[in-house]
Amino acid sequence: MEKKRVYIAGLGLIGASLALGIRRDHPEVEILGYNRSEESRRIALERGMVDRATADFAAWAPLADVIILAVPIQQTIDFIRELAGLDLKENVLISDAGSTKAEIVAAAEDFLQARPVRFVGAHPMAGSHKTGAASADVNIFENAYYIFTPSSLTKPGTTEELQDLLSGLHARFIEIDAAEHDRVTSQVSHFPHILASSLMEQAAAYSQEHALTQSFAAGGFRDMTRIAESEPGMWTSILLTNPEPILERLEDFKEHLDRVADALRSKDQDRIWNFFEEGRRVRKQMEIHKRAGVDSFYDIFINVPDEEDAILGILELLRGTSVVNIRINEENREDINGILQITFKNREDLEKSAKIVRENTDYQVFLDE
Ligand code: NAD
Repeated sequence: MEKKRVYIAGLGLIGASLALGIRRDHPEVEILGYNRSEESRRIALERGMVDRATADFAAWAPLADVIILAVPIQQTIDFIRELAGLDLKENVLISDAGSTKAEIVAAAEDFLQARPVRFVGAHPMAGSHKTGAASADVNIFENAYYIFTPSSLTKPGTTEELQDLLSGLHARFIEIDAAEHDRVTSQVSHFPHILASSLMEQAAAYSQEHALTQSFAAGGFRDMTRIAESEPGMWTSILLTNPEPILERLEDFKEHLDRVADALRSKDQDRIWNFFEEGRRVRKQMEIHKRAGVDSFYDIFINVPDEEDAILGILELLRGTSVVNIRINEENREDINGILQITFKNREDLEKSAKIVRENTDYQVFLDE
């Protein structure tokens, strides 16, 4: 039997990471790669992510059983249009990775409707601000949502076939309507990115008049603005392909801010207190405290002195526990308890570790569950 052939168009962070995921469970599959620039083609070949690589998208599309478009959103739409004019394999399975779905799915329904192909829109909800094949990492998909947005071109068995091909990602596959995907992500992803960049814009302007702004910006400000370092090209495309839901969220947020301003103007202590209390209550309930909904993560914060080997000493004490993450909150202690933050996978290890550190050091230990 002929080998199954997968064609990944775009060997950037997402495309190259997908290639690694396919390799993990399906070493028998032949992976072809397209990339515009030579750099990512070379890296993908050198690291064995793909078997062969081309700079001519149209040339190899007819060879494929599965085509995954992992290029920017507008380019994904252009490639879908181009695929409609090519002599593709009968029943080829086409998918994508674009961060917004409605426009891509509409383009597929438009251009591919009369063709003997299958299509399912997809959004792997993982990634980072890094780009290019050099940043590829199969683990970015671990426990992340991999969203399928089926349409009339998604024939029975299509998503199942893709899920099997992508089983090595260890992602959580779900299906939702493309428009609903765009609405939900406008709230939890697109709007927060706008807010983070707006905060940076505001703080930058303010620091012109108030030089200490930069120095005082600490943990809270950093946590709120981390995503402002994202890749501007990708975020421009996301905004331009999901305008209505995002504008609706922006308008809604203005009302939330107005309500806080009203409460403050009228010095309404109860309303202000309730506002913060409600935020705290809802956040504690949200899946945000779980990593992709699996095991909860548990943090301890330790006030370590600024001494050589203090942190290494603690890690030595905790050898053998399920440490998931370590962070040194070095800038400012204003809104954190403890400078060394260690995250555990389960409550048992959290409690055991807190006890060990308390018994063996005189550092202050705080728990955050
Ligand atoms: P990337 O910059 O790492 O890779 C993009 C790839 O597209 C590169 O291989 C680049 O050469 C190619 N490319 C760019 N413009 C092109 C053009 N005009 N013609 C042909 N090729 C072109 O970006 P990425 O993060 O891998 O993003 C790829 C897709 O995945 C995008 O649609 C993005 O919306 C989506 N996505 C990204 C993330 C993330 O966090 N990075 C998460 C989920 C989905």
